[in-house]
Amino acid sequence: MKILVINCGSSSLKYQLLDMDGEKLLAKGLCERIGIDGHLQHKPQNGKPVFDENIDLPTHTEAIAAVLDKLTSPEYGVVESMSEIGAVGHRVVHGGEKFAASVLIDDEVLAAIEECNPLAPLHNPANITGIQACAAVMGDVPQVAVFDTAFHQSMPGKAYMYAIPYEYYSDLKVRRYGFHGTSHRYVSARAAELLGKPIEELKLISCHMGNGSSICAIDGGKSVDTSMGFTPIAGLPMGTRCGDIDVSVLEYLCQNTGKTVSEITNILNKKSGVLGISGVSSDFRDLGKAASEGNERASLALDMFHYAVAKTIGAYAAAMNGVDGIIFTAGIGENGPDTRAAICGYLGYLGVEICPKCNQKRGEDIVISTAGSKVAVMVIPTNEELVIARDTKALVEK
Ligand code: AMP
Repeated sequence: MKILVINCGSSSLKYQLLDMDGEKLLAKGLCERIGIDGHLQHKPQNGKPVFDENIDLPTHTEAIAAVLDKLTSPEYGVVESMSEIGAVGHRVVHGGEKFAASVLIDDEVLAAIEECNPLAPLHNPANITGIQACAAVMGDVPQVAVFDTAFHQSMPGKAYMYAIPYEYYSDLKVRRYGFHGTSHRYVSARAAELLGKPIEELKLISCHMGNGSSICAIDGGKSVDTSMGFTPIAGLPMGTRCGDIDVSVLEYLCQNTGKTVSEITNILNKKSGVLGISGVSSDFRDLGKAASEGNERASLALDMFHYAVAKTIGAYAAAMNGVDGIIFTAGIGENGPDTRAAICGYLGYLGVEICPKCNQKRGEDIVISTAGSKVAVMVIPTNEELVIARDTKALVEK
C-alpha cells in the first residue's frame, strides 16, 4: 500500500509518499506561501528531476491538487495515478484528552479535532484544512489522524496537573499535554530494538532536540512525564522559545515595557531561547561557531541549554527510579556531538560514560556510550512520517 503523509501548517504543506511494501520513500516535498502566492518543491526519489518553482496556490486544496499532479506526472511522478494511493496520514498537533492513539477520520472525529482547536489555535485549524483539502481532491480515500499529544496521554495526574484551582483543569482543560509524542514513541521503540530488550522492561529518557526541544520519560514503553506543557513553550530553552519561566515575569514585563500580554507572549515564543540570550542565532551551528570565536553570550546560551537538558534528565531518572537508556534525536540531537558530550558531562553520577569516537558518528542508529557505561546512550534519527504511515496502514487494514 502507498501512503501519503501530510503535515499541514497555516501557509505550508509538507508531504511524503511512502510505499509500505518495504517502507520505501517514493517522493517528498513542500508547498509554501499558500494563500499568499505559492511555491512547490517536489523531490521524487526515483531519479526523476526535482520540481522547484513558484506556482499559484490560493488555498490548501490547490496545494494538494498540485502535489498529486506532480506525484502522477510523467515528468516528475512516482506513481501512474492517484488510485495507487491507498490512504492519507495527517500529523495533527493537538488531540487534547480525546485522543490517546491515532484514529481513522470520519465526521465525528473531525468534529472532535475541531473541539481541540482552542488548545492549539495556530496548528489544529491548519491540520483540519489539510484533511478537508484531501477529501475535496481525493474523494473518499481513507484518512488517519496521528496526534503529537497522543503518546503523552499515559502520563499520571501527578505529572500532568498544574497546581492551580482544579476547575481550570476540569472546565478549561488546562494541564500538561506534551508534544513531539510521535518522535518520542518512534525513537523509544527503536532504542529497545537496538538494546535487544522488550520495551516493557526499559526505563528510557528521550531527548528530542531541534528547533523545538522536549524530553520524555518513558517507563515500560509509556510516556510518564514530558517537558513541554499546556503549549510547546514549556520546559527547555529552545531556538526561540524561553522554556520554563516564573509566570510573574509576564505581568512584570507588560507593566515595564508597555507591551500587551500577547506581544510579550509572542516575544517569549519567537525572540527568546538561545536566540534571545545570544543575540546571534537560533541555530546551534551558528552558536557553536560564535562561541568558539569567543562570543560569551553564545557560550552562555549553549551552557543554559546543556544545563537544562541535564537537569531534566536527572529529574526523570528520579521520577522513574532509574534509567537504562538515554536517546538523542532531531536536528541537534542527531548532528551535535558537542552538545551531546556537554550534556553527558553532567551525568557521571548516573554512571554515564560516552565513547568520544562513537559520539562523532552521524546519520545512523548508534550507541555512543562505552561498554562499561551504566546507562546506554544512543543517537537515533527520528522518523515521524514513518510512524504516521505505519499507523495509517494499520488502521486502514484493520
Ligand atoms: P529540527 O527542528 O529537528 O529540524 O532541528 C533543527 C536544528 O538542528 C537547527 O536549528 C540546528 O540548530 C540544529 N542542527 C542541524 N544540524 C546541525 C549540526 N550539524 N550541528 C549542530 N546543530 C545542528
